[in-house]
Amino acid sequence: MEDGKPVWAPHPTEGFQLGLIVDIGADSLTIEPLNHKGKVSCSLMYLNEATLLHNVRVRYSKDKIYTFVANILIAVNPYYDIPKLYSPETIKMFQGRSLGTLPPHVYAIADKAYRDMKVLKMSQSIIVSGESGAGKTENTKFILNIIIWNSISSFKILANPLLEAFGNAKTVRNNNSSRFGKFVEIHFNEKNAVVGGFVSHYLLEKSRICMQSPEERNYHIFYRLCAGASEDIRQMLHLGSPDSFRYLNRGCTRYFASNDSDKQIIQNRKSPEVHPERPSTRRPGTSGNQDQTLEHCAELLGLDQDDLRVSLTTRVMLTTAGGAKGTVIKVPLKVEQANNARDALAKAIYSRLFDHVVKRVNQCFPFEMSSTFIGVLDIAGFEYFEHNSFEQFCINYCNEKLQQFFNERILKEEQELYQKEGLGVNEVRYVDNQDCIDLVEAKLVGVLDILDEENRLPQPSDQHFAEAVHSKHKDHFRLTVPRKSKLAVHRNLRDDEGFIIRHFAGAVCYETTQFVEKNNDALHMSLECLVCESKDKFVKDLFESLNNSKDSKQKAGKLSFISVGNKFKTQLNLLLEKLCSTGSSFIRCIKPNLKMVSHQFEGAQILSQLQCSGMVSVLDLMQGGFPSRAPFHELYNMYKQYMPSKLTRLDPRLFCKALFKALGLNENDYKFGLTRVFFRPGKFAEFDQIMKSDP
Ligand code: ADP
Ligand code: MG
Repeated sequence: MEDGKPVWAPHPTEGFQLGLIVDIGADSLTIEPLNHKGKVSCSLMYLNEATLLHNVRVRYSKDKIYTFVANILIAVNPYYDIPKLYSPETIKMFQGRSLGTLPPHVYAIADKAYRDMKVLKMSQSIIVSGESGAGKTENTKFILNIIIWNSISSFKILANPLLEAFGNAKTVRNNNSSRFGKFVEIHFNEKNAVVGGFVSHYLLEKSRICMQSPEERNYHIFYRLCAGASEDIRQMLHLGSPDSFRYLNRGCTRYFASNDSDKQIIQNRKSPEVHPERPSTRRPGTSGNQDQTLEHCAELLGLDQDDLRVSLTTRVMLTTAGGAKGTVIKVPLKVEQANNARDALAKAIYSRLFDHVVKRVNQCFPFEMSSTFIGVLDIAGFEYFEHNSFEQFCINYCNEKLQQFFNERILKEEQELYQKEGLGVNEVRYVDNQDCIDLVEAKLVGVLDILDEENRLPQPSDQHFAEAVHSKHKDHFRLTVPRKSKLAVHRNLRDDEGFIIRHFAGAVCYETTQFVEKNNDALHMSLECLVCESKDKFVKDLFESLNNSKDSKQKAGKLSFISVGNKFKTQLNLLLEKLCSTGSSFIRCIKPNLKMVSHQFEGAQILSQLQCSGMVSVLDLMQGGFPSRAPFHELYNMYKQYMPSKLTRLDPRLFCKALFKALGLNENDYKFGLTRVFFRPGKFAEFDQIMKSDP
């Protein structure tokens, strides 16, 4: 901040802007903006969030969408096809070359994983994260493509279109948004040949089945069926235009005609015996004649029409009065309750169908002997919307876990590098987020367990749940009560219907309305029993396979509860166990603008994504150690012009030593490794300035 030196100043839309300090006040600085074009070196040797952002910006403007920070790949979505970026020639160029000798690319990451697997005989994982529309799924596909380059091409041909047809939808953020997380494993034998694949999926968005926001759609498969089914299937499934189905016409029904063409549906049909005609064994509640709808629905689900009607409109209850056993009675539901029951049935059928599709995909790529695998995780990044509910809570919990894993790995890598270079440094410090993870998942006192406890109460309530969370964690650093104004801006919410969690990427206010309902995967008992008795074997199997014990059915009348949150916690912990046992690489995808257009770099948006992805905290983490480093030969080339020729005859390492001595640099500020010099935070910039200003 010396006079006349340019500084990076925060800027509301650009993120940061270069400027000169023209006045220093008591609590503010006045900055005169500089046109930074061409003036600032793009080197990341001055490592901070402003220079990182600047670097990404300059590279993006030259269509260089990939950038490495240490071994983490930042990938900016170009929103157009950059010529030759993924061509076979490019693939060939990357194969077998080590990281750092070629320009940053997603292929470099994929190839590193493959080579590490071969050399270290160790499974590898690649963690792809970023917000919706940032390019996670596309990058995942590029990785899988290069990994299975010459083998099981049927995996890409079948798995992707199928999973995307059933699990992707148009949203305002992405026309082809994956509404589930996935971990795709490609398995290899001892000779490093592909032997099979396996997909695990997480948190399919169920609310979309019954309700879509304006400009959004239900899952692609429905529109494709309506658009492309043959006449016999149309008849059999009683198909019509998407506009005639209540579950399809809440948002918009069309967006890109090409994707709803016959071609697509034919492709989906050809996929391995997933019973393409089955997906709509349900007729999403139509807005037409109710009796006919009920009839079609019962027919397609293999149920008796009257049984279905009764189960949707009444609930079986167990009276406690009159003896230990109690009496089963049927209580009619209110209209709203019946609507909920219908929606719950639709959601249950679809989510079990999705499980089934994934299962069938997996059955197509079986493997007996696998010695290693490469896994790619494509899962939503940290989310912070205007209204945040149970879905955001789960995804942010997941991101806390991944962030912890990320920190541990990056830290470990840093320490290994220090060791390899013989620096003799023991410790790099960083802020651990274990306390936040505990707040969510700890036994009994964690938010997930408090929620389950609420779900098990005879009369659970979202508000009581929120109160319980606050009362169990009165002075928790990570948890606060939302101020009334924050929650109540748009709706008439009470200020105790929510909580704020201070995540690693920022504080998020969760509204607890519907937490209880969203945490329960079980259908009302009468509906559950009904579909389990379906005459349609496919429907029956969908429910039976998941319905563990017979005796649960005998408890008719009592509401059963299957915890969504705790199921996810179990899945997530399994995933992390897996990740921990593998070597890992990270890709941080960045969405450059909200308009989804090419060549538009919204700095502030991007900065906030870099912060949310933990990239900025990586920089912080590195600040605890020796964040700037430069190979001897680079320093030599950079500064030899300033040095007497006597010095330049030395080899680069000695050259640097002599140079540092001559400048009288403080020995605590830098360390010599085997191949490069490491600098304490900010010290490289100081050194660089001395060199350039003091000939
Ligand atoms: P996410 O999975 O993170 O939500 P997607 O991978 O679906 O995002 O990407 C959203 C859209 O952005 C894609 O449908 C595609 O149009 C575009 N896109 C993403 N990555 C690239 C890329 N590397 N090159 C060209 N277009 C891309
Ligand atoms: Mg996606």
